Amino acid sequence: MPDHTPVSAAPPGSRWSTADTEPVVCCVCGHPGRVVHHVPPFGVVRCPSCTLVFVSPRLHAAARQRLYDEPAYFDGGVYGDRTRWSPAMLLQRTWTHGRLAGITRRRPAPGRLLEIGSGYGLFLAAARDAGYSVRGVELSRTGARVAHEELGLDVLAGQVADAPTEPADVICFWDTLEHVPDPLAFLCEVRSRLAPGGWIALSVPYVSSVPARALGARWWTLKPEQHIWHFTGPTLALVAARAGLVITDVIRSPAHPANAGRLDSLVAFGRALPDRPDGNRNDV
Ligand SMILES: [Zn+2]
Repeated sequence: MPDHTPVSAAPPGSRWSTADTEPVVCCVCGHPGRVVHHVPPFGVVRCPSCTLVFVSPRLHAAARQRLYDEPAYFDGGVYGDRTRWSPAMLLQRTWTHGRLAGITRRRPAPGRLLEIGSGYGLFLAAARDAGYSVRGVELSRTGARVAHEELGLDVLAGQVADAPTEPADVICFWDTLEHVPDPLAFLCEVRSRLAPGGWIALSVPYVSSVPARALGARWWTLKPEQHIWHFTGPTLALVAARAGLVITDVIRSPAHPANAGRLDSLVAFGRALPDRPDGNRNDV
């Protein structure tokens, strides 16, 4: 099957057209992918070299910014009902509790915690309450504004490259890596901000999960307009290693509080690989 089979028009009802898209290559190998699913005007492809799955064509940068600036992007999702005891909020609180417990076991407070993709700031506020000095970065200007105005958090509207450059002891990014334009560049930015002995903590959907494999193009987390990279345990470890990071622990169980109820996502913790004596990072 040819790579990037042209798609001339979006199906009826789709808000995006080919004019909103651009082709991309694997962030690790530079190869175009081979088509796995057609989801017009997008394609879900797999790198023939490293097996990383990604979306190409995908929304170009301006179209993605339009998507994330819409209040409906958050309000239609898991953050939709922010009343204290809504089911969505109970899940959020369970994840927050489980993830913070995993972080405090590895790098107890006090410490500097940076969250990239901090949404409305719910996790960041909990980390602050747990004794960390917290900062956030959020691409959605709506999310950044709400976090600042309602929770008094220091959240910058922007991408990882706009994040404060002073070292952080913990850098977390929940359900963010699948959204970023270039996960390798993103993780290099993370690595450059990690203090000696620091930890990363993340969650991400995984394309080798049972729902992803069973449902194919109907997998509810495929969402090709916003989820533009799809990992497995091995491809996540590969991209992390290329960025000078090592994944040390992975939680896949939906019974674990950090990943409660999630059949197709994993939570991972990791650290920086040591620099080699010649000044270069270890590589794979
Ligand atoms: Zn590749």
